Amino acid sequence: MPLSTDQSSGPSASTYKRVMLKISGEALMGDQGFGLHPPTVQRIAEEVKSVHDMGVEICMVIGGGNIFRGLSGSAQGMERTTADYMGMLATVMNALAMQSALEELGVFTRVISAIPMDQVCEPYIRRRAVRHLEKKRVCIFAAGTGNPYFTTDTAATLRANEMSCEAIFKGTKVDGVYDKDPAKYDDAVRYDNVSYDDVLVKRLGVMDASAIALARDNNLPIIVFSLDEPGGFRGILAGKGTYTRVAG
Ligand code: UDP
Repeated sequence: MPLSTDQSSGPSASTYKRVMLKISGEALMGDQGFGLHPPTVQRIAEEVKSVHDMGVEICMVIGGGNIFRGLSGSAQGMERTTADYMGMLATVMNALAMQSALEELGVFTRVISAIPMDQVCEPYIRRRAVRHLEKKRVCIFAAGTGNPYFTTDTAATLRANEMSCEAIFKGTKVDGVYDKDPAKYDDAVRYDNVSYDDVLVKRLGVMDASAIALARDNNLPIIVFSLDEPGGFRGILAGKGTYTRVAG
C-alpha cells in the first residue's frame, strides 16, 4: 500500500510488509571522503534495526562508490569491464560491514552475492532469498547485478522486483528529489510526487535511466528520503517526515 499523501502525519506502524533499502557506498564513509567509517555504518544499522523491529521484511543493496567505481577506473585507462568487476567487489565489502553491524545489534542477516564466493557469503538463489525474508532475516544483496555496465541502483530495482518488494527506499543526503541541486541553489523546490517519465525527461538524477525504466515498467514506487535524519527511515515507513515519491 502506498504511503499517505499527508507527509506530516500518519500511522505509527508501517503500511509496508517488504521493502528494499538502497544506499550508496558513500553513505558509509562519513566525513572521511573514502572507505568505511564504522560509527556511520553502525548508525545506519540502527536505523535498519528500528524498521526491522516494526516487523517489516528488509532487503538492502549498498553501492560501492566509497571504495571503487567502474567509470572512474575506466576514465583512468583501466579496461571497463575489469573496473566494473572491481566496483562489484567493493559492494561485497560494504555488505559485509553492514552485516557485521546489524548482527552486533542482534538482527539476523544474510549477504547474498550475484557473483558466487561461497567462503564469504551465499550465492543468489531467488527462492532461498525469499525464504530468508519470510524468516525475518535482512537480506543484503551484494555484487550488484553480477554484470558490468550496470549500477547498484539497477541491482536494487531488479532485486526489489524479484523479491516482490512494495517499494524501493532510496536513502540520500537530502529529503527528496528537487528540481535543481539544493546544495547549489537556495530556490530549489522539492517534489512531493514525481512521475518516472518526468525523472527521465528532466534528468532529475534520482537513479540512472535503466533503474528508473525498470521500476516504471513494473510499477515499483521509489521513495527518496534523507538518511542523515535520525529516525528518518522508520518515520518514512510510518508515513511521517518529508520525502519524494516517484511513481507512475
Ligand atoms: N557495478 C557493476 N554492475 C552492477 C552494479 C555495480 O558493474 O550491477 C559496478 C560499477 O562499476 C559501479 C560500482 O560497481 O560503479 C559501484 O556501484 P555504484 O556506482 O552503483 O555504487 P554507488 O554509487 O551506489 O555507491
